[in-house]
Amino acid sequence: MVILSNEFIEATIMEYMIPSEKVAHVQGGNSLEHALLLLTKSGYSSIPVLDSKFRFKGLIGSSAITDSILGLERFEFEKLETIKVEEVMKSTVPIVKTDTALKKAISLLVDHPFLCVVNEEEYFEGIVTRRSILKQLNREIYK
Ligand code: AMP
Repeated sequence: MVILSNEFIEATIMEYMIPSEKVAHVQGGNSLEHALLLLTKSGYSSIPVLDSKFRFKGLIGSSAITDSILGLERFEFEKLETIKVEEVMKSTVPIVKTDTALKKAISLLVDHPFLCVVNEEEYFEGIVTRRSILKQLNREIYK
């Protein structure tokens, strides 16, 4: 039987967070073209949207972008430069605070590949990915 350590179960998400300076992001006023370029180049399917003061505003993903330019018979690529990220981004997504317990984050990560972390003033601190938690869980299982 595998017994998970208390350190793992009782940890806060801060220990698994990718800090904001390493997270690719866009601003709400950026064009969809800019966002799609960043998403394609980075290989990420979705990235955070922040305001100029680094407050979290939502998520923008490549499928939402392609969906927004889908015409009747073709993709209307010329629209990419005129539509803004804030018109298409998803703003109702779960966010967690820096002191959120790992247990709570794990239950949210069942349905989301990553979670955005904000501080008490709603400023963006980073993300916690399913991969970073599973990596640690894998270590726990085999130690
Ligand atoms: P991963 O667990 O590394 O496969 O990442 C899962 C998802 O988390 C990616 O598809 C992105 O949406 C997001 N993500 C991971 N790392 C970053 C990063 N450094 N910057 C922005 N988004 C990220």
